[in-house]
Amino acid sequence: MCLRNLSARVGSDPLLVQASNGNTSIKLDGILWIKASGSWLAHARQEEIFVPLELAGLKESILDDSEIASHIAVNDELRPSIETPMHAVLRHRVVIHVHSINAIAWAIRLDGPDQLNERLAGLHWQWIPYAASGIPLAREIAKAVATRPETDVLMLGNHGLVVCGQDCHSAEKLLWEVERRLAITPRRFPKPDTTVLAMIARSSRLQFPDVNTLHALGTDSVSRKILKGGILYPCQAIFLGPTMPLLPPAVAVSKITERWNGKHRTPPFVAVERSGVMVNEKVTSAERATLMGLVHVTLRTEESARLRYLKESEVIGVLSQGAHGCQEVVVRERRLLR
Ligand SMILES: [Zn+2]
Repeated sequence: MCLRNLSARVGSDPLLVQASNGNTSIKLDGILWIKASGSWLAHARQEEIFVPLELAGLKESILDDSEIASHIAVNDELRPSIETPMHAVLRHRVVIHVHSINAIAWAIRLDGPDQLNERLAGLHWQWIPYAASGIPLAREIAKAVATRPETDVLMLGNHGLVVCGQDCHSAEKLLWEVERRLAITPRRFPKPDTTVLAMIARSSRLQFPDVNTLHALGTDSVSRKILKGGILYPCQAIFLGPTMPLLPPAVAVSKITERWNGKHRTPPFVAVERSGVMVNEKVTSAERATLMGLVHVTLRTEESARLRYLKESEVIGVLSQGAHGCQEVVVRERRLLR
């Protein structure tokens, strides 16, 4: 299946996919082959990551809002991605959905649709305002493509990118073309100041990150401003928490020692203003990949850009209802850690 090679290539690019997010599908003889929830696209060549679902039945369950049947899954361990309905309502044979860093950097901007008019000129694209993953998002997409069925590029507000094609080759070619047009050069950022960070390392479960880029969340003033504004997309809330831990250096050491060595759970990371970032020694691969993705997004977002943050109710929805593709991953990963 050509989708395996495509998925492995796309899934291995951290600017497109972080850990197990993103999903691909192909429609063959009335069957939708969709990436399983929690599987990594990057592993598509080595392991079974696709679940077969009968397309007609799936479309019916989207219409009547019933649970998606998974009775013909080849393996009971594999459950279809929560983003399956979106793949089902698109008429193209091949659908690629990625949490592209460059796409997200546009998808969080209030002026995103205007900015993209120029960048994506000539392509059949549409902007889909934020909707929770699953049936709500699928319905918004179905509405949008009903009037313009030629649409094969969807920018998902506060979420990511979808591209479609009649075969693997055309879908992947379109993905790289869109990526080329959306590309933003990341901003350079000041080096970390390790004085305070070293004190934190001595008195907590936080350690220096293995990648220097992560420090930008503390040392880059624009990134800090963005971080203070709130949550920009669901995976950020799911993996990194509903509020971002950003502290001034004067209180960082005492607060971290008091709070996170006590009964409170140490967060995946802590950003210290002007100093840099420290990472939880037990950070999971998904948390780390999400954190890396967040840094790449903030470094591609200019200070003057007005951003659309997720509303409180949207963040609560994401965290409480498992309303996004990445939440199942957390459950799966925690289960494995036990
Ligand atoms: Zn997604």
